Amino acid sequence: MTVKVASEWLNSCSGCEISIIDMGERLLEVLKVAEFVHLPALMDHKYFGQLGDGKQIEIPQADVGIISGGVRNEEHVEVAEAMRKSCNIIIALGTCATHGGIPALANAYTKEQIFQRYYHTETTDVPDAYPSEGLPTLLDSCMALDEKIKVDICMPGCPPHPDHIFSALVALVEGRPLALPEKSVCDTCPTRREGKGKVDTVRRFLHTPEYGAPDEPLDQMRCLLEQGYVCMGPVTRAGCGGDGIVPRCISARVPCRGCYGPVQPNGNQRLDMLNAMASNGIDISTLPESASMLRFSGAHGRLKPKRV
Ligand code: SF4
Ligand code: SF4
Ligand code: SF4
Repeated sequence: MTVKVASEWLNSCSGCEISIIDMGERLLEVLKVAEFVHLPALMDHKYFGQLGDGKQIEIPQADVGIISGGVRNEEHVEVAEAMRKSCNIIIALGTCATHGGIPALANAYTKEQIFQRYYHTETTDVPDAYPSEGLPTLLDSCMALDEKIKVDICMPGCPPHPDHIFSALVALVEGRPLALPEKSVCDTCPTRREGKGKVDTVRRFLHTPEYGAPDEPLDQMRCLLEQGYVCMGPVTRAGCGGDGIVPRCISARVPCRGCYGPVQPNGNQRLDMLNAMASNGIDISTLPESASMLRFSGAHGRLKPKRV
């Protein structure tokens, strides 16, 4: 049996599509049982008929629809709705699709503020009207996919690991339930924990964490949060290490930035992280002004952060 797959990208950087390609030789196995009927990242497709004379977006019928990227403009809404009509199962692929992702950080600003920032700078001589002709209208905020259409499977990650994309596609072809990681990054992290309360101020990641020789095994390095770095492992969904399990950033001795989104789909990563830091004895009033250290925690379409 061949499973028909359609893929779309909305407010996406295409990193999720690269992760599909990064399945490598396993893609050949997938292609034996799956037929990609729609894949704009690789295949030309005319949305309004071959001659452009169609009246509405046409997406071929498919068993599985994979959508990356959040919903930022009216065109994204139309494409997402067309995918929903054409596909039996919809997979939200990547943290942008499951939660809004990095682009949802702009939800802290109004559309007018975003345009102002983008088109008018201190050196702009003659402010002109913002371009609008031929462009899809921007929505008031960047949304997760399931805020606009029904989603059957959420696969977070920025991007999701190719191991999990492969196992998800195989499970769907074989009619088995998906088994995606549901623990936190900390649960899969081998670093050494000594206990809470030894560090009370936040250290910016401008200094190398403390560990022995560069080839020292990870389980001999002390937990980065206990060293005072804002490591978002406690509040972030596991999975970035793929079948190799060890979280990617930690394996490079870099704190987790939270790119897999909250452990629970509707969790509030930022709030949970502040709680985790406080319970580790860290004085959260010492947090630097820069929000970049918590960049993914604000990237949650549904949370709609208070506008500045
Ligand atoms: S989840 Fe990450 S890799 Fe995927 S589209 Fe969004 S920013 Fe790109
Ligand atoms: S806080 Fe970071 S370094 Fe510490 S256990 Fe969790 S993921 Fe590992
Ligand atoms: S360690 Fe954290 S930020 Fe790094 S890839 Fe994994 S989930 Fe993403």
